[in-house]
Amino acid sequence: MTHGVGHDVTRQGEPDMTTVFKFGGASIKDADAIRHLTPLLEEHTDRPLIVVVSAMGKTTNKLEALLAAARSEGKEDAYRECFEALQADHHEAMEALFGDSRDSPAERVDALFDELDALHRKHRASPYARHYDQTVCYGELISTTIVAAWLNHCGIATDWHDARELVRTDACHQAANLDWAATADAIRERLRGSECVALTQGFIGGTEHGDATTLGREGSDFSAAIFAHCLDAREVVIWKDVTGLFNADPRRFDNAIQLERLSYAEATELAWHGAKVIHPKTLGPLQEKSIPLTVRSFETPDATPSVIDAERRFDAEAPSCILREEQVWIEVLPRDFAFMDEPRQHDILGRLVEAGLHANLVDSSAMRFALCLDNKPERLEQLIDSLEADYEINREDGLTLLTVRHPQPGMMDTLSEGREALAERRNATTAQRLFRSSDCPETWHIPESR
Ligand code: ADP
Ligand code: ASP
Ligand code: MG
Repeated sequence: MTHGVGHDVTRQGEPDMTTVFKFGGASIKDADAIRHLTPLLEEHTDRPLIVVVSAMGKTTNKLEALLAAARSEGKEDAYRECFEALQADHHEAMEALFGDSRDSPAERVDALFDELDALHRKHRASPYARHYDQTVCYGELISTTIVAAWLNHCGIATDWHDARELVRTDACHQAANLDWAATADAIRERLRGSECVALTQGFIGGTEHGDATTLGREGSDFSAAIFAHCLDAREVVIWKDVTGLFNADPRRFDNAIQLERLSYAEATELAWHGAKVIHPKTLGPLQEKSIPLTVRSFETPDATPSVIDAERRFDAEAPSCILREEQVWIEVLPRDFAFMDEPRQHDILGRLVEAGLHANLVDSSAMRFALCLDNKPERLEQLIDSLEADYEINREDGLTLLTVRHPQPGMMDTLSEGREALAERRNATTAQRLFRSSDCPETWHIPESR
């Protein structure tokens, strides 16, 4: 079993010439951005093209706020305000793109908004995660309806496909697991040999019973990899607001440099440790079929992109820095002065898994087991309630975890200057230190090599 893909989706014949493009929220954030897609696609319509699209701009965050209002007593006004603002944003984009053209998808979009508005009656009593998936999928359903209509309006023949019927998953809402065999069958049956551009939603899937599911926040990159894997595509291109993958977030490090070539393994490590530019589940399905991933700028498409494939030669050429913010440090201490040995660690990690959390750093000693976690309030509360029944807990919030891949000698100390490290960990390729965010700069600098 490789990378959790572990299924029998064998190559059927030779790899075809399919290319998969993925456009994230920033690349379709408004009418101007959507107009910008046309020239990027026009060059590629001479061979099969699958286009995977996210929700417009920050729509998913706005749908999360809408959901919170829909599930709270007495928040009807807040709900209506959120709903109308979302609808107005999408109408503004459609009006700018289509004017009063009959190609405008406004009616279809309004029908989707009506479905969104109505579904809370049925799902208010459902578990949060199920209601979440039924709600937030509308961001992608609506954006793709607009983008498909725009491409057809511009003369690029485009078919809209409902990813809830193609990406088949279990019912583990908000973090659904793929049924790879059913997904491959559905994708191949519907998309192979298509004469048109096939446009579909990232991030979302569906169960065999027709419930919508989601693959985890920022999951559209993974969706692109799923389509590419199932179709034995020749290439995946994810279009971003950066020219490629850098050795640190260029918004946070003033001297970040672009990594023009790196391996699937190295890119997976960077994404796993929190480099937000690619969803960590994206690389496995591509690696298994040797499909290269190109990260390219939608603003400057001619700029040199980053290419990720099996070549490992360039991986350690430069150290890479990754920040994970809003971290929480939890120390678990025994109440009975017994050791925090393997049975106890097993017990604690079991409760972590039950709460649906992942530890970004773990530290253990004789009388203490400590975990660095993302601040997901509901899940953390569940974990802490469970642990407090049997252990003493110390908690510190407001922390930043710095991870450095391939650190050079002295680099961690230079990066830590003037800051107390609450915890640290190091192995042959990776070093991590945990700081208080209030001690950290807004803009970081990668130390020059000595
Ligand atoms: P999408 O539009 O596909 O959702 P994201 O916003 O998720 O795109 O990813 C692009 C952003 O990722 C960039 O604006 C950049 O600030 C951030 N980022 C974080 N780490 C890196 C990195 N190592 N290289 C490039 N960009 C990074
Ligand atoms: N729209 C989803 C999100 O904002 C998925 C994605 O953009 O990848 O998380
Ligand atoms: Mg994103």
